[in-house]
Amino acid sequence: MRHDDWKERISRRFDGELSADETKDVVTHLASCADCRAYAEDLKTLRHAIRDAAELDLDPSFAVSVVERARYQDARVDSWVAVERLARNAVMGLALTAAILLATLTALSPRESASEHMILSSVQDTTITGVLMKPDELTKSDVLLAVVTR
Ligand SMILES: [Zn+2]
Repeated sequence: MRHDDWKERISRRFDGELSADETKDVVTHLASCADCRAYAEDLKTLRHAIRDAAELDLDPSFAVSVVERARYQDARVDSWVAVERLARNAVMGLALTAAILLATLTALSPRESASEHMILSSVQDTTITGVLMKPDELTKSDVLLAVVTR
């Protein structure tokens, strides 16, 4: 049997889809093939990561798509791309939420309020502010908008 077939079978084993004989074959192959052992380890790690993510109340269809992707990808690297994307999407979502929150806070607060002052002083350290900040030509909202939509 080819390597790819073994990996497919290893994946099915995690799903409890193998007969007793097939399971025995997989166990025997794993004992002699370091590559497939590493693949089985990665699958296990991936599944734990997905289970942990599911406990964080993520959209269930997202976890399902990661599982399906992992099942049909042969290369270990491709499995990790899915996990990385999951993490990156979570971070991007948080960053977007924070940006919207900041913009809303600024829009709601009166000029020169404490929160606007606080936001702008934290913004002043960035390089983009150094480029954009010409206090007499730009309003503070312009600078904030430039940073948020960068
Ligand atoms: Zn193998």
